[in-house]
Amino acid sequence: MHELSVAESIIETVTRDATERGFGKVNRLSITIGELSMVNVDTLAFALEHLTKDTILEGASFNLEREEARGRCRTCGEDRKPTPPFFLCPVCGKGLASFSRGDGIHLDYYEGE
Ligand SMILES: [Zn+2]
Repeated sequence: MHELSVAESIIETVTRDATERGFGKVNRLSITIGELSMVNVDTLAFALEHLTKDTILEGASFNLEREEARGRCRTCGEDRKPTPPFFLCPVCGKGLASFSRGDGIHLDYYEGE
């Protein structure tokens, strides 16, 4: 399950950073999940809740934001919102050259004390 490894890596990153800053507890965490990352938001929320038990993130509130994909079409050169399931250009039906957003998972911020 992809979500499990995503949750593990988020927890690991935040735990390391928060510990370095001398935080004893993390209260809040905001994550952006790109549409193309193939991560199910509900499953990720579930995984985070379970895996944070007995860590400094236990009991933290998770704000999971979904981000729509956008990309530049290699044929018309325009920035488009691709159409699922193949994420092609909605105008000419060709593949997009690169995605400008929505293809990753980002930790936006966290709050601790
Ligand atoms: Zn196009």
